[in-house]
Formats: sequence, C-alpha cells, structure tokens
Amino acid sequence: MISGPTYVYQCPQCHNLLTRDSLASGNTFHSTWYSDGKLIAPMLPDFPNLTKCKKCNHLFWLNKLKEVGSFYFGDKDKLDWQNADEAEFLSVDDYFRAIELGVTEDKGEEGFVRQQIWWSFNDRVREHRTIFNNEVEESLYVINCMAFIELLNSANENEKMLIAEVYRNMGNFEKCLELITNIRDNELNWIVVKLRSECEKKNRWVILLEKVVQATNGEED
Ligand SMILES: [Zn+2]
Repeated sequence: MISGPTYVYQCPQCHNLLTRDSLASGNTFHSTWYSDGKLIAPMLPDFPNLTKCKKCNHLFWLNKLKEVGSFYFGDKDKLDWQNADEAEFLSVDDYFRAIELGVTEDKGEEGFVRQQIWWSFNDRVREHRTIFNNEVEESLYVINCMAFIELLNSANENEKMLIAEVYRNMGNFEKCLELITNIRDNELNWIVVKLRSECEKKNRWVILLEKVVQATNGEED
C-alpha cells in the first residue's frame, strides 16, 4: 500500500480548512466481503466524499469542491494545512440530515447515502454490537431500507441480489427467497446458496461472504 498526497479543501460555508488523504496504490489483500455488498479492505482504505465541517456543521461533497492544494507527509511548510481538520465519514444522523436538506441532488447520490446508512447499522452486527439501541433506530432502519429498495433496479442481477439482502435484513425471508430464486447469473449462484441457507435458518442479519487472502492483482504492498 502506498499513500498518495493529502488534499486540502475549504468549507464552502465558513472557509475552515479540512484535509483528505489519498492512496497511490493498494490491493485487496486480507479483505473481507459481506452479504450487504460492503468490502472491508485494510490495504485499500476508503476516504470520505460526503463529509461535514467540524466548525460550522455544514454538509458537503468533497468531490464537488476544487482542492486548495496538496502536500505529502513530512513536508515542512504549510503548517496551517497540516494542522487542518481531517475529513471524516458521517454518522447515521448526519446521513439522514444530508437527505433531508437536499445535499443529495439526484437518485444516485441518495442511493449512495442510503447504502451508507444501511452499512452503518450493519457495521454494529459486524462488530458484534447491538444493532438497534431503541425502537426509533429500528424504525429508521426500516424506513431507510424501504427507500433504498425504491432506488435500486431489480432488472439488474447484482441490484436484485442487493434488494433480496435488504429484505432479508428486514426479516422478510419470503421476499428474499422469491427474488434470489429468479437470479439467472451463474456467477452469483454461490451467494444465492448462502442467502437461501440463512433464510432457512431465519437469520436476518448481515453475514460474511468471503475472506480474500490473496491480493487480486498479485501485489502485496
Ligand atoms: Zn464550515
């Protein structure tokens, strides 16, 4: 894994500086793939795109801003850049706020945010924590799942698989089984077998699909 430059951005509302690291090269060595589609790859870290200013709470997409500049680890000048806040991933509450405020400007962006909300809750299962702390959280999970399904295209086999998994996570095993029975892509068959088995066991929660031991591109940086 080789780090790239750190990019510097400015909050569009209050001009506070914030930074985001980048990657020059990485690989999927020791990564873990889950049934909700999330890939956790230690050698291929993800950096936030939708974030918030720590000074004024404004929510914005870093990819829609022009960076102020960039620097490499160890550069001696530009101390104000090096001391700037690091952009962080949003909390579930802030993701919901982004949708309410219209920070998501189209269906693609809303789908991205709804998937992040779904994954954030499922992260608690991955980390062996309680998924819902109260009934409000559980109903927010369901509301988000239903809205996410509306944004997916069931004519696409991969998205159909994702819809099936969302239904299973809501405890609707019947609907999950109905959808996976209609998946025709043979490459997805091993996932269909796994999800069917979880439905039979009446397990609704996210499961580990695969642990990747080898790097897919042969690199082990
Ligand atoms: Zn700000």
